Amino acid sequence: AKPVPRPARTRFIAVANQKGGVGKTTSTVNIAAALAKAGSHVLVIDMDPQGNASTALGIPHGSGQPSVYDVIEGRSGIADIMVQCPDFPTLHVVPSSIDLSGAELELADMQNRNTVLKQALQTFLSQSGTHYDYVFFDCAPSLGLLVLNALCAAHEVFIPIQAEYYALEGLGQLVHTIGLAQSTLNRNLIISTILITMYDRRTLLSKEVYDEVKRHYPALVLNTTIPRSVRISEAPSFNQTVIAYDPHGAGAVAYREAALEMAERSASVLQQIEDTRNEG
Ligand code: ADP
Ligand code: MG
Repeated sequence: AKPVPRPARTRFIAVANQKGGVGKTTSTVNIAAALAKAGSHVLVIDMDPQGNASTALGIPHGSGQPSVYDVIEGRSGIADIMVQCPDFPTLHVVPSSIDLSGAELELADMQNRNTVLKQALQTFLSQSGTHYDYVFFDCAPSLGLLVLNALCAAHEVFIPIQAEYYALEGLGQLVHTIGLAQSTLNRNLIISTILITMYDRRTLLSKEVYDEVKRHYPALVLNTTIPRSVRISEAPSFNQTVIAYDPHGAGAVAYREAALEMAERSASVLQQIEDTRNEG
């Protein structure tokens, strides 16, 4: 396999789309796993109370378990709750739990309501001995305060789009929200990547969706698309990524390809973030 380059600096990536079921979690865990398997150090922060990323990465996350909720509440640091993914030693996970569903309301009362996560992460990174190549935030399907926390802690946004009829619906609103976050909360934020998921090569529609998204955002869309695959969808029920569960299947191949493409774009993405910073 082609070597997967490591970025010169840490890439902080919020995986966001206010639509549910478009492949945010699936893309987060599988790209994170593919990068870790190729030698990168990766941190996944599960910001969805559903805890689907935690499940797929093999981390228990029942109510009352230590989770990112304790970090948001200020009871724990990230180091206290972080765990290693059983399948990949260089993949670390900050699990979520259903308790996190209470956090939106609690955050609303806090003065630093948008930057709690960012501050906790900065503290952790300055104290931890580990250098991460990638930090992923798997966001819930909303544009609430938890997502804003991720958008404040991130430098780039990764948007998965499902190849279906209403694919572009809501995308304008998402781009607008990211723009607002960029102008008011986080100068260092760009939309870096769009990935088309659940692509069906047999249908004209999938190709039409790809072409249309590519036409609107030519620089952002990865050439790789993720096929619809039963293996991808069943891997989480074995508490695994498809990278570990079915490493030679089409789903794993596609996610490794997408991870490689992302890694190869690192220099240009980091440069764009730098340029955005200097504009401000
Ligand atoms: P989100 O995090 O955006 O809500 P998920 O990643 O959880 O979306 O995906 C939604 C559902 O679709 C899940 O059941 C997941 O297993 C399934 N899924 C995601 N990507 C694929 C794919 N490429 N092929 C088949 N099923 C998929
Ligand atoms: Mg999800």
